[in-house]
Order: sequence, then C-alpha cells, then structure tokens
Amino acid sequence: MHNGLERRATRAFLAALFLITFAFHPLPAEESVRFEDHFLDRAMRINLYLIGDSRDEQAVVHSIYQEPVWPENRSNLTNPFNYGHYFVKVYEVASNRLIYASGFDCQFGEYKTTTPALKGLKKVFQRAVRIPWPKHKINLVIEVRDRKNLLRPLTVETIDPEDYHHVREEISAGDYTFEVRKNGPPSERVDLVFLAEGYRAVDREKFESDVKKFAGYLLETEPYKSNQDKFNIYGVFRPSAESGPDEPRQKVYRNTVLKASFNAFDLDRYLLTEEGFLMREMAAQVPYDAIVILVNSKRYGGGGIYNDYCLTTVDHQASRSVFLHEFGHSFAGLADEYYTSDVAYNEFYPAGVEPLEPNITALLDPQNLKWRDLLSPGISLPTEYGQEEIEKLQAERRADFQEMNRALEEARKKSLKESEIKKIQARFQQKDKAIQAKIKQVREKYRNLEDKVGAFEGAGYASKGLYRPMMYCLMISSPKMEFCRVCQRAIQQMIDYYSR
Ligand SMILES: [Zn+2]
Repeated sequence: MHNGLERRATRAFLAALFLITFAFHPLPAEESVRFEDHFLDRAMRINLYLIGDSRDEQAVVHSIYQEPVWPENRSNLTNPFNYGHYFVKVYEVASNRLIYASGFDCQFGEYKTTTPALKGLKKVFQRAVRIPWPKHKINLVIEVRDRKNLLRPLTVETIDPEDYHHVREEISAGDYTFEVRKNGPPSERVDLVFLAEGYRAVDREKFESDVKKFAGYLLETEPYKSNQDKFNIYGVFRPSAESGPDEPRQKVYRNTVLKASFNAFDLDRYLLTEEGFLMREMAAQVPYDAIVILVNSKRYGGGGIYNDYCLTTVDHQASRSVFLHEFGHSFAGLADEYYTSDVAYNEFYPAGVEPLEPNITALLDPQNLKWRDLLSPGISLPTEYGQEEIEKLQAERRADFQEMNRALEEARKKSLKESEIKKIQARFQQKDKAIQAKIKQVREKYRNLEDKVGAFEGAGYASKGLYRPMMYCLMISSPKMEFCRVCQRAIQQMIDYYSR
C-alpha cells in the first residue's frame, strides 16, 4: 500500500533524528494540548504488524484507515495512565511537540515471553492502534518497554494526514448494528461494543439477548454499577458460517468471522483472535472505546489485552466472572492476581521490577506502595494470611490424591475385590477430610482479613515476590463476584477518563 523503500529510508533517518532530538531536548509540559488545535473530530486507525521473537522485534505500519468520529477523551490527550508494554506517541512535525500518547498491549508482547519465542521462533501479529486524526504532518512513534519497563522507540514514521493512500471508505460493512443503551455523546461516555463471533445467521436473536445479558453483568458490578449513566452500549452482528470457536487440541475447526481459537500460546483455556484488523473494522461501525467479543460456546475460556479487546464464551456457568475478569484486563489495565503456574509465559514480571499495573506490586518500597492510601489501618506489610500453611496442606492433598490413584491402579492389576478397593478409597478420603478441616482452620484464623486492604503475597503468576491488595477479587477469584477496592478504584479512573 505504501512505498516500502522510501519508508525504510525515512524510518532510519527518523530513528537517528529521534535519538538526537529526543534524548537531549526535554519536551515542554504537555497538559495544554488543545484538541481543536491539532486534531479533527475523526479517528486514524493505524494497522500495525508486530514481528519477531523474544530478542528482536519490529513494528511495521501496514495501512491507515479513517473513522468518522473520535469517541475518546479530548481533554487529556497525553494519557494519564502508565499502563501497557507499548506506547503510541504522536509528535507534530513542525513543532516537534508531543500531542498524543496512549499505552497498549498486544498479543506479540505476550508471545515474546513464551518458550518458542525464547528459542528464536519468529511470529507475526496484527495490532491496530487508533489516534485522533491529525490536522498536520506527524511523526508516529511506537515505543516498547525493556525488561525494566523503560520505553524505547521501536518505529518512527512520518504520516501526512493528506496522503491519498489512507483509506476513507464508507464505515458501514453492512453488518447488523444495534444500540442497547445510549446515555450521551460518545466523547463523554464509555462506548462499549459487543461483537458476535461464532453465531450463525439464525443465532442473531441469541446474540442480541447475550449482549443484553453481559451488559447487565457489567452494570450490576461495582464500580460499573454506580456509573451506569456513563455507558453507551452497542452490538455488531456479522453471521459466521459455523457455530463456536476453533478448538485445536480437540482438532475442531470452525469457519467463523473472527477466527477465535482456544489454545492460544498452547494453553487449554486461553481464547484469542488473531484477526486484529478485521475486528477493528467491525467495531468501527459504531463509536467505540472498548471491544468485547462474545464467543458462542459452552466451553470455559476467554482472554483480554489492555486497550485492545477482550473475549469470553457465553454459555459456561463461569462466563459471567470470566467476562468481568477479562474486561478488567482490556479496559482498566488490571493484572492477573492469581498465581497458578498454568501460563505460557517465562518470568512475565521480571524480579526486582515494579509491575505497571495498578493492582499488583513487588513491594520493593512499602513506604510508597501504590495503594498506600487505601490500606486498612494498622495492617502489616506484607500481610500474613496463612498462605504458606495452606499451600503446604494443598500440596499434601495433591500428593495423597496421586498416591491413591497409584494404589487403586495396583489394586485393579491384582484384581482385588470391590470391597478392598472401597477400603483403599475410604482410607484416603478420611485423610483428605482431615486435611480439608485443617485448611478450614487456617482460613478461619485469618477470616478477619477478608475485608482488609494490605499486601497479600501471591499474584501475577508468582506465589512469591508479587503481592495483591486483598484476599479476594475478580482478578483472582471472588466468591462474592466483586473487585477488590484497589481494582475498583482503577476501573473508576478509567471510566472517568473516557466519560469526562
Ligand atoms: Zn483486585
């Protein structure tokens, strides 16, 4: 679509320029960027390919599309949040002034921490980023963080908004779009769009009712509940030829619109789409800030990428909590607070580096803990809650379970009588009951901590060295289907950002 050679030369030149200019001249304070001075009320969607492995990565601009409105915040254009492992920054060429910045994550960012990427297997992922449509020529800078979370430029590209290569096609693709809730102009509301995936033409009514159901789940949960009037909610329906997502481990492949698939990064329950460009094209038929893909399936699973999209299956008994959890990632930049090892990442949070997300900490500097102002009075840091005792007991349970299976196997080989087998089972069950009672005792001992904010060890896929704010939260697991107070505040800040 663009001239490749010219672009490479431009990029090399700008990278050099960037290092010289940006390294030695601190930029002026950017609070005063006025939307009307620099932008039109339209959006520029920039389709990027991210390519590489864990050592080497590139971001390449593929194509640029115009969207008819800029639905996001206009008063704070340089982003108050420091979330995301990537940043898009926009500098006006004439003044070299930073006029827009936004953090984001992408599938490539996760891929590069996986074992195949560490072994040097290169992959490519689509990622579209969106900026307000600039009035004048800009330098688009894509930055990436290093292992210490410092940003460095990955790509610098000059974009002339007048360039006739930018696609200005009709935004409607002929899909069926509908409004579930409309509370105000897009620039003053959180605009949430639900996209249909794996729904056939005959399933349209089911999709509409699923959208209403999931919108309801969201707006029944704090802090969304207290902010119901700050949301506009839409649905976009494009029929799939077949029902449900791909399930590669089961060798099940279905022809669907967004090609959502389980077993992302070879994990059982991780469900993602790699059709990042098409997804944005579908979403752009309505004003949107946040994208949710509803996947027509009964299986347990989902995924969420910050400032991009989340998806969830709709018909599993846990779909409600999966959706709230994944939307926490994609909308508010929240981290996983759980610490099971069932992930594909290698050292996703490097030791000794404070995570970017608002809801987990390495507790390197307890005096300056990011949720210090929310701590319960008198709470100790870190907060002892019997984690080690419980984990020991749970390890004992797992070992017993394995031993029981071995004993039963043995018994069957020897063709022991059914009554003997039952005796073996009973022996282990009795032991298990005793351990469970002990676990209950430990939990009881720390019950008074359940509504306290402290720093509880075990978060971000690590049982040691990372801490979460409360014992329970939808970002780990919550019997009451609630976010912890730190996550609630982070979500509230994001709602305020989009609905100001
Ligand atoms: Zn939380």
